[in-house]
Amino acid sequence: MNAYDSELVKSILCKNNFEITAVADEAEVVFLNTCAIRENAHSKIYGRLGEIKHLKRKNKRLVVGLLGCMAQNLRGGLKQNENMIDIFAGPDSYKRLPAMIDSVLETGSKEYDFSLSEFEDYSDVYPKRLPGVNAWIAVMRGCDNFCTFCVVPYTRGRERSRTVESVVSETEKLAQEGFRQVTLLGQNVNSYRSNGSDFADLMRVVTEVDGIERVRFTSPHPKDFPDKFLQVMVENPKICNHVHLPLQAGSDRILAKMARTYTRDDFIELVDRIRDIVPGVALTTDIIIGFPTETDRDFEETYEVMDGIGFESSYIFKYSERQNTIAFKKHPDDVPEEVKTERIVRLFELQKRKSLAANQREVGSTLEVLVEGRSKKTDKEWIGRTEGNKIVVFEKALTACRAGDLLRLQINAATANTLFGEPIATHLKLTEKADEFSSC
Ligand code: SF4
Repeated sequence: MNAYDSELVKSILCKNNFEITAVADEAEVVFLNTCAIRENAHSKIYGRLGEIKHLKRKNKRLVVGLLGCMAQNLRGGLKQNENMIDIFAGPDSYKRLPAMIDSVLETGSKEYDFSLSEFEDYSDVYPKRLPGVNAWIAVMRGCDNFCTFCVVPYTRGRERSRTVESVVSETEKLAQEGFRQVTLLGQNVNSYRSNGSDFADLMRVVTEVDGIERVRFTSPHPKDFPDKFLQVMVENPKICNHVHLPLQAGSDRILAKMARTYTRDDFIELVDRIRDIVPGVALTTDIIIGFPTETDRDFEETYEVMDGIGFESSYIFKYSERQNTIAFKKHPDDVPEEVKTERIVRLFELQKRKSLAANQREVGSTLEVLVEGRSKKTDKEWIGRTEGNKIVVFEKALTACRAGDLLRLQINAATANTLFGEPIATHLKLTEKADEFSSC
């Protein structure tokens, strides 16, 4: 979502005659788009502010802005380097950035805008993207769920959906520009509603756009995952066979404290239903370790659910207190750091075994792969992704292809993170517009 928001900001600035440079030394304005979801994301921003301090010393007129959820959540109450920041703007204030820059340059005073909007969805701004294979499209903003650990409802405001027409028209433009895949984004995509259409309706019409070969989405909330959507997935080959379904914890007691509104059994039943309706679907998840009061027994329950389901991969994080959340106010962060570390290491090991087993099951099979670009390690290899979002590496010498091509690959080997394969036939679909992208 932040990558998409940065593309929106670039577009807004370019429309107001700014040029984008990747060289910080050349810049007259530097923005850091921030995330508040974990403490680690905050620490990174303090590090980046330290890095650009010398630019401000060299150029007294340099305008430095802090954007996004961290700016919104802390509202200027930073622990360090606050003096060097001229602009603080939350996620709903980006259209005001050109005026805020002018004001700082004219008056030298600081600018703040933390207003949250019930309506702003930026559907009138076409993001300025780098060329590539995949494009993100935010189809909704905000969240109404108030999970107790999460800052999003406070930093991004109430849930609102873009119209189907605006999402389809953005997708059509993307197809014309050579993008082959779109990923529809929302904090809780199954809450998407617009003029009588739900997320299943939206997905159906997006897949009808010529030139787009794959459609992904993230993330649904396990509490209201409708069969209608699963049917659309099954019927529509362009929708990737992958569902990212955040579990967060496997203990009913902790799920209740998190206000996730489902139980462990509800989640397991949902997984069974998804696997029944969408055969071969790849499932991935998010887990929080060490939520306040998590006991050894609670953790074992999370471990058991993870073990039983066997996700293809997962994002596992230690709980970190987020200012202004319900958990911050009501539940002290009381699980010792070393206990969190011990538990997370056990879950990492379990996930590694599950990912390796899932990848090894693919060995010998033939998978459709969307080529993304050259491998970062060597220019002798390509990388692509399966529908299940697994990375596949194959030798460049084996086929003449370009980023954006769809290939069939025979999978010959696997590690926990990567599949290795070789093309077995001519291209399924060639890209017409894309050059070889160095990365995506
Ligand atoms: S569903 Fe919960 S975790 Fe996800 S963004 Fe909303 S409040 Fe945060």
